[in-house]
Amino acid sequence: MIEKIRKAFENYQQEMLDDLASLIAIDSSGEEPSGEGMPFGEGPAKALDCFLKIARRMGFETDNVDNYAGVVSYGDGKETVGVLAHLDVVPAGKGWTTDPFEMVIRDGNMYGRGVIDDKGPAVAALYGLRIIRDLGIPLKRGLQLIVGTNEENGSKCMEYYVAHRQPPTLGFTPDASYPLIHGEKGSFWAKMFFDKEELPILTMEAGEVFNAVPAECTVILDGSVDIDVLQASADKGFSEGYPVTVQKTPEGNICMVVKGKAAHGSMPYLGVNAIVSSAMILCDALGEKAGKLLHFVRDVIGRDPYGKTAGVYFKDDNGELTLNLGLLRFENGEGWLGIDIRFPVTGTGAYAAGLFHAMADKYGARVQIPTPSEPHFVPEDSELVTTLLQVYRDVTGEQNAGSMTIGGGTYARHVGKKIVAFGPEFGDTDYHMHNADEFYPLEEYIKHCVICTMGMLRLAE
Ligand SMILES: [Zn+2]
Repeated sequence: MIEKIRKAFENYQQEMLDDLASLIAIDSSGEEPSGEGMPFGEGPAKALDCFLKIARRMGFETDNVDNYAGVVSYGDGKETVGVLAHLDVVPAGKGWTTDPFEMVIRDGNMYGRGVIDDKGPAVAALYGLRIIRDLGIPLKRGLQLIVGTNEENGSKCMEYYVAHRQPPTLGFTPDASYPLIHGEKGSFWAKMFFDKEELPILTMEAGEVFNAVPAECTVILDGSVDIDVLQASADKGFSEGYPVTVQKTPEGNICMVVKGKAAHGSMPYLGVNAIVSSAMILCDALGEKAGKLLHFVRDVIGRDPYGKTAGVYFKDDNGELTLNLGLLRFENGEGWLGIDIRFPVTGTGAYAAGLFHAMADKYGARVQIPTPSEPHFVPEDSELVTTLLQVYRDVTGEQNAGSMTIGGGTYARHVGKKIVAFGPEFGDTDYHMHNADEFYPLEEYIKHCVICTMGMLRLAE
């Protein structure tokens, strides 16, 4: 069967790449809603229309769910297998070698915004559906390809979808990594407020989002601070080799800029946090005058990406809690910290938030925590996980491939309990997703097409 499907993709390859190119040509990065019935703006709605037209050309039934999402269906049955992909993209950004909205194939790689995230996989699943239909294999479950238009900006498309249509019985989303992701940690974003204090720090600012390690922190201190003392602390290596500049400003204040290394908030251990570096330098230089907030950052958060010194840590067989200090704002003697917590799949939001509240009480800080996002977890011995993993092993020959849990969130959690993430990234390759020159090697794309189609078939037959 694998060989039959591979052959079928070879036969359809040119047509499939042409269809993908027509989708790539539409800039479907989310915009402000523009006019009637386009909840995420014109681009995503156009991409959805284009996709459903391709499906109808193939003779499939389609359903446009009010421009939030679309469905292409094949076969029936009381139960359904869903494949969830998305047609919106992140903005092109700068630095592309070629036009991001014109798909090109260069040195065996497809380039263009969305080739791997996630228009390529959406088109792959559509051709998979077509090939399954061509082969005429009887199915026990109906197949539904569900495409959303707001994955990159909060997945409100899937919230709408499950409120207006019957979600699939089980399924997968090709919008993360192989071999398979059966668990996604829970998470919340906490703001910690500290009481006003009289300090020589006028302003301090770092980070733009909760879910990234900040790579820069800017501090303005008043003229009472001894610049030589500050410079001496800056030279002590607290920033782990990243630059620190200390300068007098024209107003007679001191400006310190501390650099660090950015990383995703779900993997804070990969970064060097510029807020922590700054706190270390300022506490060293100013002592007590650095204030409670910075001493908290240095002594309680510190260089511990797991929240152990803060006392909020726990773990299970699938992974451990991570803590990222993503934001700091300080002005007029008071300030707050923005912290991203990812907790293990067997924990609950209430439990993790409870630990956090207790910790904040201990240090005299006030806390705001919006409703946590609960973990998403499909047991490893379930039909869904074992079937898809076997497909991956059979197609790739990697007999030891296993499933994993991650700190990030995918579409899976928005649609139902029995959805996992399956593909399309292989190994540790950096496909420049969300960056310039996003690419997907054609050979890997075809391999993904075969795995995805086999997965749909094995779950449905
Ligand atoms: Zn995506």
